[in-house]
Amino acid sequence: MANVLVFIDNPGDALKKSTLELLTLGRSLGETAVAVNGDLHQDVSATLAEYGVTAVFRPSAQDLDDYLVSAKAAYLAAAAGAARAGTVLLDNSPEGKEIAARLGIRLNAGVITDVVAVDADGTAHKSVLAGSYTTSARATTAVSVLTVKANNVTPEPASVASAPETSIVEVPADGTAAAARVTAREQKAASGRPDLSDARIVVAGGRGVDGDFGPVEQLADALGAAVGASRAATDAGWISHDAQVGQTGKTVSPQLYISAGISGAIQQKAGMQTAKVIVAVNKDAESPIFEIADFGIIGDLFDVLPQATEEIKKR
Ligand code: FAD
Repeated sequence: MANVLVFIDNPGDALKKSTLELLTLGRSLGETAVAVNGDLHQDVSATLAEYGVTAVFRPSAQDLDDYLVSAKAAYLAAAAGAARAGTVLLDNSPEGKEIAARLGIRLNAGVITDVVAVDADGTAHKSVLAGSYTTSARATTAVSVLTVKANNVTPEPASVASAPETSIVEVPADGTAAAARVTAREQKAASGRPDLSDARIVVAGGRGVDGDFGPVEQLADALGAAVGASRAATDAGWISHDAQVGQTGKTVSPQLYISAGISGAIQQKAGMQTAKVIVAVNKDAESPIFEIADFGIIGDLFDVLPQATEEIKKR
């Protein structure tokens, strides 16, 4: 079994569900080490041990975030060498994919993105064409770099906890030398809502909200849910692109997905059709979203959502 290295970027004080999924997947493939960027909280260290991580690598430099992704790719290449990794796993975010591409060049490694499962022999299965098909591929290089979509693995701690040792990895100077440097950051106001990718409940709005996400946000807040959106809504500038669900947005797999004023185009379905329960609110009874909805309400979202919010608040 090949050694596996999982990249964990700025874990904060708790690992995200998608990271736990990577650790679980890694363990099914071989001994799993992690390369952490950022502070390592003691609760995070404890979780790494619970998930059977055998080694923890940290960078010699603390300012990797100041160099966009090039410094992270350089660090990860050095950590992959130290871990003798045959497989490197990253999350499937735009940044994860960019790091993967740079890492592929540094390690002369095959890169496979949008992975949904990996067999013990390293064959990766990836979704294509908005999730309509799954294809299989295996890197023929010594090292493979895989970016894995969230919500395709059930996180499971190891049967026996480990006691990983921490080592410092020297970040190669060429990762920072010629790279652009971040000079300022704008702090986004915290919404107080759960992270869209990990949320148990998502309330999403589309073109039907006609510029007013108020009813969607109020229902989301009553349910403790994250707010999602179709691309029509994000392209119109009614809500941030971070909220986009779908082929070119986030993939979500919540217990409950409430879709309001969204027609259910194939590219939207690609990001939400694995939700356990789908409730659709649409005033057009012929809308394709009703083909995959478990519960459908034919009606105006501006009537239905406030009524639902009011009822939920009473409980
Ligand atoms: P529409 O299709 O216009 O549907 C609006 C719906 O709202 C209609 O069904 C209408 O009946 C209903 N409605 C209107 N008013 C009300 C009301 N008051 N109450 C209730 N219902 C109402 N789309 C994504 O979502 N995510 C992606 O990641 C994505 N990626 C794409 C990638 C590519 C390469 C391409 C080509 C397209 C992509 N799209 C994506 C766009 C996708 O094809 C659709 O155009 C988009 O999903 C439509 O958004 P919508 O359902 O909000 O709008």
